[in-house]
Amino acid sequence: MICPIDKKQLKKALLAETEVDYCPKCLGLWFEEDELRQAKDVKDRNLRWLDIDLWKDEEKFKISPGRKLCPSCRLPLYEAKYGSSNIRVDVCNLCKGIWLDRGEFKKIISYLKKEADQEILDHYLKNLINEFGEILQGPEVFQEELEDFLIVLKTLNYKLAVQYPAIARIIAGLPK
Ligand SMILES: [Zn+2]
Ligand SMILES: [Zn+2]
Repeated sequence: MICPIDKKQLKKALLAETEVDYCPKCLGLWFEEDELRQAKDVKDRNLRWLDIDLWKDEEKFKISPGRKLCPSCRLPLYEAKYGSSNIRVDVCNLCKGIWLDRGEFKKIISYLKKEADQEILDHYLKNLINEFGEILQGPEVFQEELEDFLIVLKTLNYKLAVQYPAIARIIAGLPK
């Protein structure tokens, strides 16, 4: 697969046990739909935040500026608004993959963090490493974003528990 920005070959990294592709030059991230679907399964359920509301306004999507092409289909990528934020990510209407430019990942994290309750975050943060073990297997340059990423993972876990207590109970009873 080829980077939509600078045409470099993408490389693989593991993010909370979900495989993602990244560009070694511009450090953009590519999430394939299969990867996201797996992320919705129990084991990697925390990555589902990535496609929050993304396809809601699909008919309003505009072609991304800069002639970005989908790394796998080679068709033009479209701009999609991320939730109620002003962040625009690039998506492929055909394979439903999602491209994040370097920096957009951080923006999404801070957007999600704004809606979080800091006390709850601190509380959950204490057992993070126990739950996930090795969070990132990839280039060290992504390490700086890890702490924020972990906070978001825990926040979404908490929200799930509040909104869907029955589901949360089932998940809690599954082997890790
Ligand atoms: Zn690139
Ligand atoms: Zn595609």
